[in-house]
Amino acid sequence: MYLADYHMHSRWSNDAHIPMADMVLTAIDAGLDEICFTDHVEVKSSGSDMRNYFDWPALSAEYAAAQKVADGRILLRRGVELGEATRDISWCEELRRQMPPMDFIIGSRHQLSAKYGNEDLYFASSGDPALALDQIRDYLQQVLLLAKWGNFSVLGHLTLPLRYMNENHGLHMTFDGFEAEVEEIFRTLIANGCGIEVNTNRGHDPLPGEKWLRLYRGCGGEIVTLGSDAHTREFVGCNIAQQQELLRACGFRAFATFEKMQPVFHDL
Ligand SMILES: [Zn+2]
Repeated sequence: MYLADYHMHSRWSNDAHIPMADMVLTAIDAGLDEICFTDHVEVKSSGSDMRNYFDWPALSAEYAAAQKVADGRILLRRGVELGEATRDISWCEELRRQMPPMDFIIGSRHQLSAKYGNEDLYFASSGDPALALDQIRDYLQQVLLLAKWGNFSVLGHLTLPLRYMNENHGLHMTFDGFEAEVEEIFRTLIANGCGIEVNTNRGHDPLPGEKWLRLYRGCGGEIVTLGSDAHTREFVGCNIAQQQELLRACGFRAFATFEKMQPVFHDL
């Protein structure tokens, strides 16, 4: 079984502290065949401030050093997690011009709309089910805008709000009732040549889960990557093999990795 972890953060993300080389060594120990670094490049962080400086030469130097450490024992690819792109598309496209060539880009949304002050889902979620339902609706509207823009490889962690609502606040929310909205997102992604990821979510419920993976497959979706979203060594490669089984059960024949922004398919 070919194992590829396509969502991984290093100290180049503002919420992680591990050097790239340490993540590489951990991935080798975990028996992975391939990993892709996807450090955060968020167009706007929570609130109004904009992160407008990324030290690409330094990041490139650390990636090159990590390649040396890998020494052919694991395939490394280079990507970013591009967050909140639709909050400032022209700035986002300028960032794309600044960054070195990438193999893979996760497009993701972590914030609610201006209606909620663009607050991060992590902070905005509460134990109130009615509020949670409105936040899911708001989030899915933002994700549809992102899908329509479509300048990325895969949509990250579609059901992210559920992680915070259920794991942090004890709710039992689902996306049930939003089938039409999710289907429109999937059809838009597919039309734009984008895929989705199965985020293995530290061993908790995958983001998204089986119902939505089946719907994506039913819409003709074929491009799926698997990623742990590891910010620490502990979760590198977590549940990648198990969620490959889930993909097979949902009717997929292959999962994807990426090289130079083109999908490479691996039989399940
Ligand atoms: Zn993310």
